[in-house]
Amino acid sequence: MPAVPALSYSSFRTYQECPLRWRFLYVDKLPETPRGYFTFGRVVHSVLEQLVAPLVVPTARRVSENDRQRTLDEWHAHSGTATPPRWMTSEEMLAAYEREWSSEGYTSSEEESRYRALGREILLRYYDFLVRERPLPVAVEEHLEARWDGIPVHGYIDRIDRTPAGGLEIVDYKTSRELSSDDARDSDQLSLYQVLVESNYAEPVQGLTLYHLRSLTPLRVAPRERAALAGLHDRLGTALDGIRAEAFEPTPGRHCTRCDFRDRCPEFRSVPEADGQRLRVLVDRFEALRNEENRLEGELRRTAEELHRAAEELGVHRVPGTRSVAVRRREEAWQYSLDNVRPLLERTGLSHRVTSGTPEEIRRLVRDASVDPEVRRRVAETGARRVKWYWDLEQENGP
Ligand code: SF4
Repeated sequence: MPAVPALSYSSFRTYQECPLRWRFLYVDKLPETPRGYFTFGRVVHSVLEQLVAPLVVPTARRVSENDRQRTLDEWHAHSGTATPPRWMTSEEMLAAYEREWSSEGYTSSEEESRYRALGREILLRYYDFLVRERPLPVAVEEHLEARWDGIPVHGYIDRIDRTPAGGLEIVDYKTSRELSSDDARDSDQLSLYQVLVESNYAEPVQGLTLYHLRSLTPLRVAPRERAALAGLHDRLGTALDGIRAEAFEPTPGRHCTRCDFRDRCPEFRSVPEADGQRLRVLVDRFEALRNEENRLEGELRRTAEELHRAAEELGVHRVPGTRSVAVRRREEAWQYSLDNVRPLLERTGLSHRVTSGTPEEIRRLVRDASVDPEVRRRVAETGARRVKWYWDLEQENGP
């Protein structure tokens, strides 16, 4: 096993999804089948890089972890690019697109033509947007590395812009069909990029943006708080520990449908022909029993509900049958919905007190006299009593 490589976002995500697939990709280095939508994304990214690169004005950068900051003046003195290259015209951009185009991975010529036309349309619309907006990029397609509290990480960042306030905004282009603000809010990729930029640049990160190219929509969110980054750091650390320990268990799920290594994966190993018939009979029997179980579960629930309604109407709790007595029992539980007060807990530094959300944990917080009474009141108000009825059976002559 070679030294553990630095984790990129996609390597981390692959390990989280399925460690065995990670091993196939990053240790055995098995190639994957090209897919049209990946080729498409790569070509569009490459043209955008060529388009935006002439607008780049590098910002001050750290030379190394322990070094002082490099200043912009020093950069200009040594860059030899006092006159920036001319920005390409839209015709030159389309010519670059045609040069970059690759047919790799498309399932038919119709699919390829559809994507090709879509790319042209996206780029032309984005070109108009750039002419209007004139962003201030300080880097495009930049490869950054860092050691994040002991964890080696790296990534290629589509674009880093200067904000009007003098800070930095990280931009990640997306060519996917759908994208929502939740994607930007929850994106581990943007969190990791924030860490990479903060480790390599002098200016603060002031914004994180997923740029939805199909609709020209920037989905912009504030940089992550330390607490949110700590969660990602923990998960990266767990992945790294697993890689170091060579823990490469197959973890099947919906992602298996797009895995190219099913023929090597023990999860998908075929049953030997000699055992096929015997096991087929067992599987068919299992399926029939599972269907019967579902049917009975539904019937049991409906009968209990009917009994419950009748018992409510009559005000009784014990209903005799022929051989046994059905007894209605009551169970109470308190439940808390903390979503509304979680920001308050975070602001007051109390989020560590509510990790599991169990009623006992919350009651401890509510009873703690050292906690601000207003916080305790608001947490207590989220509680509600839930009553659950269920039926037991007792034999006629006793339980
Ligand atoms: S088929 Fe599924 S379980 Fe097997 S390696 Fe691929 S992703 Fe993992």
